[in-house]
Amino acid sequence: MRTNLEKYNYYLNIIESKEHDFINIEIPNPPKILYKVSKDGTIIECIVEKLQYFRNNNYFDYNKKVYKDLVKKVKDYSETEHKLERNNIRFNIVEDRGTYKVSSSISLEMLDDYFLTKKCAEVVSEEYIKIVNEENEKLNNDYVRCERCRKLILESDALNVKMINFKMYGSKGCMMKFCSSECASHEQMSLEG
Ligand SMILES: [Zn+2]
Repeated sequence: MRTNLEKYNYYLNIIESKEHDFINIEIPNPPKILYKVSKDGTIIECIVEKLQYFRNNNYFDYNKKVYKDLVKKVKDYSETEHKLERNNIRFNIVEDRGTYKVSSSISLEMLDDYFLTKKCAEVVSEEYIKIVNEENEKLNNDYVRCERCRKLILESDALNVKMINFKMYGSKGCMMKFCSSECASHEQMSLEG
């Protein structure tokens, strides 16, 4: 080990292999694919690229060159006992959205929003589609959506309130339907910024 970069890599490797061992014990068989269902019922496939340990504020990134003080920082960290926490394990996933891909890092807590099998995702997707269809059916028959909270209400029960924002609606304002006067006033307040 002569250069700073070699030293850096040596110590970082010690840190990472400890973290790697910890992850392997905590999550011995991570799923390769997770499924997410959006509110309209679309099933999104998420490829689990790798599991990584989130080291809180201890970043060892460098820009172009490794300086001595960074080597020291990594060395000190590698020689200190750190209690590894299960909560700091992250799943690095890539969502396939058809024409583009989205990368993200999710915690174990966030895993609750994902499904392990396509079958489970499909069950939930069907439920969501049913809800969307029921809502559309209602919207075609006497119901409207509150402009603020998005709740469905009978059109006859809706409050018609004029929203005022000169920039957006000019001097005439804009009539909107709300479920309650609270929603109307919240909407007006948000328009006033
Ligand atoms: Zn409302």
